[in-house]
Amino acid sequence: MKIFKDFYNEEKMEKNKSDGGLRFVNAPRLKYRVFFITTVVLVAVVAPRLPWYGYIVCLLIPLSVLFFACINLSWNFFIPALCKANTTEKVVALSFDDGPALFTENILDTLKQNDAQASFFCIGKNIAGKEQTLLRINNEGHSIGNHSYSHAFWFDMWGPQRMMADMRKMDNEVKAVTGLKPLLFRPPYGVINPALASAIKWDKYTPIGWNIRSFDTRIKDKQKLTSRIIGQLKPGSIILLHDSMEITAAVLPELITMIKSNGYKIVRLDKMLNINAYA
Ligand SMILES: [Zn+2]
Repeated sequence: MKIFKDFYNEEKMEKNKSDGGLRFVNAPRLKYRVFFITTVVLVAVVAPRLPWYGYIVCLLIPLSVLFFACINLSWNFFIPALCKANTTEKVVALSFDDGPALFTENILDTLKQNDAQASFFCIGKNIAGKEQTLLRINNEGHSIGNHSYSHAFWFDMWGPQRMMADMRKMDNEVKAVTGLKPLLFRPPYGVINPALASAIKWDKYTPIGWNIRSFDTRIKDKQKLTSRIIGQLKPGSIILLHDSMEITAAVLPELITMIKSNGYKIVRLDKMLNINAYA
């Protein structure tokens, strides 16, 4: 947590006045330098001493590192993200992505019946027509996070300015309905890269990941889904679920019962992490 705070306290963000745009600023430069030097050593020193395929191997290694750094928020390679709470207390947080969606109301009913609070990382374009659901999320004590406006397939190919505009558009949707400005941001598809890291830092969002991926978008068997989550429970866990999935709504009552019977308390993730959900 300390490293995370220090990182955000650094006021190294600069505005490129000439085009009013963003630069790839405040990057974890030491990490980049080590990565760059290692790549140069591999290609310039190691590869020439190997057979012809040495160059391919020596390029594949750093490229693989970059690829896995992009799909693993918890590596904190491009930006520090919160993926769990450092606690020994038996608390866990439920998070739902991609709503407001078809099963959000059903999930809210279950949470209400079980007196449990969760966090919903909503998609801006899903809010139109579901304003009452968004209001209900807030009124019933859950938090709303930013999961981009478009959740576009090519989102990760965009530049930081376009990403930032999309994220701000989502904030405005939430603001228009609830009056709140979200601070928590979960990257679409859980993918991070230098452009998104810049956009996140620029608007001072807190990037939120998870340490229990339920795979509720793929798993078809209810029992398998529940045991996968329960088997990974640890103090401070953040569980990734989707309120767009029927199976998630269907297993939630049983899941909550099992979490509780394992001695865990369900708390809202911003409270568990001791951070602000809104500006
Ligand atoms: Zn998503």
